[in-house]
Amino acid sequence: MNELKSVLIVNIIFLVLMFFFLVYPGIEFIGNMPPIFSLIIRVLVFIAITSFITFFFLELKKFSSNCKKLELEKKTREKKEKQNYIKTVEPRFQVDPEENYQVITKHLLELVKSTFFVQTVYLYFFNHEKEEYILQDFLSSFDVKMKNQFNLTLPVFGEIHNSKIPIIYDTSKMEKESLVHYEAVPKVRSIMLIPIFLNDFIGFIGLDSVEKKSCDQNDFGMAEEFSKMFTANIWQVDTIQKQKDNIEFFKELTHINSHLPLNITDLELFKKIQSVIKKFFQYDKLTIATMKNDDEQDLSVEYVDGYETDFGIGARISINAQIVNQLFQKQKLHINNYDVEGIKHRFFPDDLEAGQMQTCIGVLLEFDRGKKGILVLEHKDIGHYRKEELRILELFGKNLNEIINRIYVYRSMKNLALVDGLTSIYNRRAFEEHLQIEIERARRYNNNLTILMLDLDKFKRINDIYGHLYGDYVLKKIGLILRSSVRTVDTVSRYGGEEFAVILINTDKNSCINTADRIRSNIEEFIFQKDDMKEHMTISIGVSDYPADGDDMQSIMACADQAMYQSKKVGGNKVSMYKHN
Ligand code: GH3
Ligand code: MG
Ligand code: MG
Repeated sequence: MNELKSVLIVNIIFLVLMFFFLVYPGIEFIGNMPPIFSLIIRVLVFIAITSFITFFFLELKKFSSNCKKLELEKKTREKKEKQNYIKTVEPRFQVDPEENYQVITKHLLELVKSTFFVQTVYLYFFNHEKEEYILQDFLSSFDVKMKNQFNLTLPVFGEIHNSKIPIIYDTSKMEKESLVHYEAVPKVRSIMLIPIFLNDFIGFIGLDSVEKKSCDQNDFGMAEEFSKMFTANIWQVDTIQKQKDNIEFFKELTHINSHLPLNITDLELFKKIQSVIKKFFQYDKLTIATMKNDDEQDLSVEYVDGYETDFGIGARISINAQIVNQLFQKQKLHINNYDVEGIKHRFFPDDLEAGQMQTCIGVLLEFDRGKKGILVLEHKDIGHYRKEELRILELFGKNLNEIINRIYVYRSMKNLALVDGLTSIYNRRAFEEHLQIEIERARRYNNNLTILMLDLDKFKRINDIYGHLYGDYVLKKIGLILRSSVRTVDTVSRYGGEEFAVILINTDKNSCINTADRIRSNIEEFIFQKDDMKEHMTISIGVSDYPADGDDMQSIMACADQAMYQSKKVGGNKVSMYKHN
């Protein structure tokens, strides 16, 4: 740009000179000049004006790009400021509830100390089970050491856990040993204990003074306010912690909701469910059981974790078992105490004594297609579960229903794609998929593999005489006869209209001839009877095997097909082995 500026300066000087030369003495001056000079001057004036205009546009362009740059800078600055703002806000949400609680407790103790003009203040929590107090924090003007824990003891600390109001003690006449909260007792002449409640008694604030009458009943109102502040502080930390747990739980839910593979097996799914539940709930036994149909009277236990002596996976529970029955009636269940709430047995007679379970929460699972199930968590401690936990379990149950539904839809879609709608045996696509897999397997393990191609003889006749409905009936029956004539490991499929194909794995020639002939005779002997129709059918079968007749799917299929036509040629109702020419 500097060069351009110098061009401008040269231009201006040039224009000024021109002005003096041309305008000042008069423009007619050009006319008096020799034509060559007049031309030179005109050209120079033209160049000057053009370069001036060029310069002007270049400057304009520079100006607009500068404006854009400024705009961009402003935007990034604003964005940065926003980020900074979030950064300053973030820590407020990332408060460590523990640390926050400790800081507030300290402040509150300072406040109590300075409000009541006492020398020592302390906060003890009460362990209801062990009936002992546990030190949380203290402040003192003396160099004192307080006991980390001590038991309920009269005359000073034996009553506060039952008292709804503060208690004041004159300790000036007491034995030093009764002040059990000190390691070494300093000078203390009066003590005020303020109880703290959060639903139940949870502890007290103690105020020790060297004066005999530092506090009296007039201070109770103030003391109560302090008690409430401590309650709020404890409640807050509890709430933050709960919120944090909830957030973690929902994160986990979202994760399984969006990451669970649809082709997961039932067992893998239940394992996953158990692993999530274990993170957020405590239990001595987790039970997941499902019912296949609405009209079934039993549930099958799909998964168990924890105590397993009473029953494990595979057990069948009656829907009349007490816990199951209540769960089916109420959709959700929260039993605080089996004894008190009249539970005589949980899932089986006498199973209460066995596991000593005392309490449970549970939800009903309801999947699509009428399939129901239960998810129950049990604990050996009476009243272990809170309402809140049942609420979260309910939410989990609802999510689970969604997930399981999705898996079922996927499975049925997959089945639809591979199963023949009329006969409910595999279709051609499934047959070819299986054959491909089985050939690979046979190749790997050096095994044999036999294929049967089957074609009904004169089937068209059934359609022609009785109609398609009867033809369909015959095809369905053929599917059933085929399925019941081979082992479960063998694949039976409807290959086309009235053609079927079977894969027999790990068989030798002899046994596959027997199987093929059994199929043939089973069909021959069967009476196809429906309404007015009473018919016998026969079938033509062709047999080929891997690796003798071919190395891949196409070639052994072609061999089986050829063999089948051999059977047809001789009148049907026959089994033919493929023969090499
Ligand atoms: P061949 O002994 O030579 O095998 O004679 P065929 O009558 O069994 O064989 P053809 O190929 O002449 O006829 C097969 C018939 O099967 C024709 C078709 O209408 C019938 N078909 C194919 N699919 C279905 C089906 O899903 N339902 C019914 N009812 N009939 C079917
Ligand atoms: Mg045919
Ligand atoms: Mg046929």
